[in-house]
Amino acid sequence: MKDNKSKKIKKAVINQSVCDRSPFCPVKRICPVGAVEFKGFFGGEVTINAQRCIGCAKCVAYCPHQAVSIR
Ligand code: SF4
Repeated sequence: MKDNKSKKIKKAVINQSVCDRSPFCPVKRICPVGAVEFKGFFGGEVTINAQRCIGCAKCVAYCPHQAVSIR
């Protein structure tokens, strides 16, 4: 018998205490679906839009501070 439970897609999460909130963040440029969002320009919080994120994990490899993880 087939399990009809839908599998939950893992999403990217930013550790705000590690992120340096750089306006030149490479993670924002690498995301293929534009899920990385900035609040403001300098010093604004960086967040992942969970509605857009497809869980590809490219951002994990590109963050220079290892602030991004997939959960
Ligand atoms: S996991 Fe992929 S889609 Fe989600 S924020 Fe990271 S780069 Fe974008």
